[in-house]
Amino acid sequence: MYNPKSMKAEEFISHDEIMDTLKFADEKKDDLEYVDSIIEKARLRKGLTHREASVLLACEDEDRINEVYKLAEQIKKDFYGNRIVMFAPLYLSNYCVNGCLYCPYHLKNKHIARKKLTQEEIVKEVTALQDMGHKRLAIEAGEDPVNNPIEYILECINTIYSIKHKNGAIRRVNVNIAATTVENYRRLKEAGIGTYILFQETYHKQSYERLHPTGPKHNYAYHTEAMDRAMEGGIDDVGLGVLFGLELYRYEFAGLLMHAEHLEAVHGVGPHTISVPRVKRADDIDPDEFDNGISDDIFAKICACIRVSVPYTGMIISTRESKAVREKVIRLGVSQISGASKTSVGGYYEPEPEEDNSAQFDVSDNRTLDEVVLWLMNMGYIPSFCTACYREGRTGDRFMSLCKSGQIQNCCHPNALITLKEYLVDYASDKTREVGERLIADELKNIPNEKARAVCGDYIGKIEHGARDFRF
Ligand code: SAM
Repeated sequence: MYNPKSMKAEEFISHDEIMDTLKFADEKKDDLEYVDSIIEKARLRKGLTHREASVLLACEDEDRINEVYKLAEQIKKDFYGNRIVMFAPLYLSNYCVNGCLYCPYHLKNKHIARKKLTQEEIVKEVTALQDMGHKRLAIEAGEDPVNNPIEYILECINTIYSIKHKNGAIRRVNVNIAATTVENYRRLKEAGIGTYILFQETYHKQSYERLHPTGPKHNYAYHTEAMDRAMEGGIDDVGLGVLFGLELYRYEFAGLLMHAEHLEAVHGVGPHTISVPRVKRADDIDPDEFDNGISDDIFAKICACIRVSVPYTGMIISTRESKAVREKVIRLGVSQISGASKTSVGGYYEPEPEEDNSAQFDVSDNRTLDEVVLWLMNMGYIPSFCTACYREGRTGDRFMSLCKSGQIQNCCHPNALITLKEYLVDYASDKTREVGERLIADELKNIPNEKARAVCGDYIGKIEHGARDFRF
């Protein structure tokens, strides 16, 4: 029985409702009048239901698809402007007791190098990340109650926040660890985390159980209901995602939106972010063994449909995607990207020797952060190292109301310029700095509120003279 308000996984992600949705989408995808009415509804920027969004995703009419792309671009401009928030993953430990078939950390993999960072190693890794210019991390770990208990994760978060090297600081730590208890989520919240991220991997219960044959992650309901426990534990920014390639993408897309609708219905606030990872080659993992790989075009279509369906939700693209793919989808609504990522446990401070590989998957974008920053600016984007919202308590529904009130341009835009200025002064190459200074001068003019513009200009001048960490 489908019920978005239910707290039971199989009721808010109802298989029957997804199957009916896919049938409905197949019946309606060629009804261009209906498709047009959905696009008109999306123009109101209040989002779409999973059924409507699934019709758009199924529609193959080229003109309509182009309309959706154009609208996605426009919605991105309206809500996120031309800012792209930067982050890097930090893998703490690849010890794992699960048996996930797509992940090289699975318990039976005896040839991957198993590693767990000590607190001293974390200091080295984080110092190296700070020296690149990063201010926001996503910490990642396998699931292993003995090697990586919650106490270890909390200690790592504490260490990360305490490291102050030159002008560097990690100001926001997002956390991507296995589903856990309300009490543990409460402890993560108290440790000052930003977003709690957990990928569903697949919403298809049968496939989920087949792909996670052993270990605590096998429990579909416990995993799918994790965001409700996180919210109960006080974490109001949660990040959803599916691993595209495991199951039929249209099934996953409907499930993802139903999950967002569930969070909105129960907690009054939808997901803070949605990630769209695709299965990658890795030690012991051949992505071709999974039958549901998607083309770059379908990937772009999914991104555009997510953008128009949940306009207030940030969208994240990692270095699993190549420069070319990132270039294509960034304009369709992506708001956050990682840069200069390592998916190994350690590797920022010192490259990992090849024979000692601990990486989770191959990255497709190997550029330095400086190269990524310059590339973004040359495409007209403002790379942003901002972490202000969460530090000002603008999380959950307070962040959403900032978005909805249209005040982002007087708040996020200046914060992006201030943090970019810090990056340029402290870490950028000469070329990047030159392009960045020009961009800041031009973009200052785009702050609508006169007072905010003046204050932002003043902060930027002060950063030039050594002050740091201003925010709106
Ligand atoms: N262990 C945690 C859990 O159980 O959710 C999460 C951390 S894991 C390091 C982060 C994510 O990497 C997983 O949720 C999965 O979606 C993704 N991942 C695993 N294997 C992958 C692969 N071969 N290619 C791309 N992404 C992969």
